[in-house]
Parts: sequence; structure tokens; C-alpha cells
Amino acid sequence: MKFLGVERIISVSACGSLKEEIKPLDFVVPTQFVDRTNQARKYTFFDQGIVVHISFSKPTCPELSQLLYNTVKEQGLRVHFKATYLNMEGPQFSTLAESNLYRSWGADIIGMTNMTEARLAREAEICYATLAAVTDYDCWHPSHDEVTAELVIKNLLKNVENAKKILRAFIPKISSERKCLCRDALKDSIVTPKKVIPYRIRKKLSLLIKDRLS
Ligand SMILES: [Zn+2]
Repeated sequence: MKFLGVERIISVSACGSLKEEIKPLDFVVPTQFVDRTNQARKYTFFDQGIVVHISFSKPTCPELSQLLYNTVKEQGLRVHFKATYLNMEGPQFSTLAESNLYRSWGADIIGMTNMTEARLAREAEICYATLAAVTDYDCWHPSHDEVTAELVIKNLLKNVENAKKILRAFIPKISSERKCLCRDALKDSIVTPKKVIPYRIRKKLSLLIKDRLS
């Protein structure tokens, strides 16, 4: 993506709901994440020969997320903003005890993919916003046992149809100029002095860091 000159990523994914008011077929624009992954995912570009600490208190692009939320609303669809997305490991779904624990933490929705995407996008100084489509309630909900695969697939297909409608309206609204902080995520974040970073690391990460090393 970086090589292609991509400046913004909109991630569309399915999720489960951890709150009664976030219903199946609703859309959610999360702006916070809790990481509950536990296997080796590629979570950083900077794990060898260089120390980089980017700011990640706001893990999604504020501008892009706001515009995305506004667009879903304008389409007359139900949408929730500023939600917390719990990123579980998977591929199994959560146990009942886990689901209740995540609810007690205040998480709104649950999925398996978004947080790693947000981390890497920010390190690459690419804006990232996510459109999460609710397919069902997670296992905490009393109706969960009645949920059939047929129903989940039916909801998934309806969500895909709506997501396409949202993206068609959303993409033309994105301004060509970026005013957010994502584009400067690496500025003042590289801790290791340039002269100490091995040449092979500088070469390998050149696409990401060449403008930030002076
Ligand atoms: Zn941004």
C-alpha cells in the first residue's frame, strides 16, 4: 500500500455485538481498540535494529472516521460512533466467560482483524478508519443459541450490500489534502539515532523512514 502511494485505508469487516443497543445489521465506526490477540501477528514494522514509539492513543484517523460516520448516517442506516472494538485472537469465537468479561470492560463490539491493521497503518503514516458491520450478538446474548448459520450469512450479505452503498457515497467526499496527525506519525517517534541504525535496516525500511531520517 505504501509503495503504491496509498494515503488512506478504509477497512470493512464483520463483527459481533457486545451491547444490546448495537443490533445485528447496524454499522459501527470504532475509534478505540483493546488487544486480546496472543499469537505472533505482524504487529510492527520496527522490531529489528531500530526503536520507534508512535503515538497510538487515537488509533484510527479522527477525520476519516468522522466523515465515515456522517456518511453512514446520511444513508439512513443505523450507525454507532466512537465505539471500542475488542480484537480477539480467533479463529474460534469467544467463550461465555470471555464474552461477559469483555462486556464488563466496556467493549462495544468484537472482531479478529482490525487492531493489527490500525497499528501497521499508523506506523506507515497511512490514515486508517474502519467500518464494522454487525452480523450477530456474541454468545453473551440470550438469543445467541437461536442464531443459525443461515441467519448469519443472510445478515452478512445484507451488510455487504449496505457497505458497498456507503463506500460509493463516502469515497468521493474524501478531500485530497490530509490535515490529520496520521501523516506525521513517525515525526519525532524514531528513538534510535540514524548513525546507529544498521544499513540493512535503513534499506529494508526505506519506504517508511527515508523522509524521517535526516
Ligand atoms: Zn488521518
